[in-house]
Amino acid sequence: MGQSLKAECKDCDFNAQVSYGGGMMNFKYNCLAPAIEKTTGEFKIVNHKDKSLHDYYDFYTDDTLKHKGYIGRTHDNFDLKLNFNSNFCPQCHGFTLSFVRTAIYS
Ligand SMILES: [Zn+2]
Repeated sequence: MGQSLKAECKDCDFNAQVSYGGGMMNFKYNCLAPAIEKTTGEFKIVNHKDKSLHDYYDFYTDDTLKHKGYIGRTHDNFDLKLNFNSNFCPQCHGFTLSFVRTAIYS
C-alpha cells in the first residue's frame, strides 16, 4: 500500500528518498506524495489527502510536474499516478527526474 521510492535526476546530482502512499492503518487520511513547495521551489514529501496543503504545493501526481506527452509506466496508488520518468527536477528544472521503487510496505 505504501512504497519507498528514490527520486533521481539523470542530468544533475539531485536525489531524494520518497515515501509514497500510506500504511494499512491510515491510508484513508494519510497518503504521502512528493511535491514542490510553490513559494520556495523545495522538494518535499507531503500528505496529498490534506486538501489545505494543495494551495501551497504542486504534487508530482498532478499534471504540472509531469512532462506533457509522457506515455510510460506509472506508480499507482488508488487514484494517484506518479510517472516513472520525465518528471520536473527541482534542481536543474528539466523534465529529467525519475522515481525508482526501492520497497513496498503495508
Ligand atoms: Zn536535475
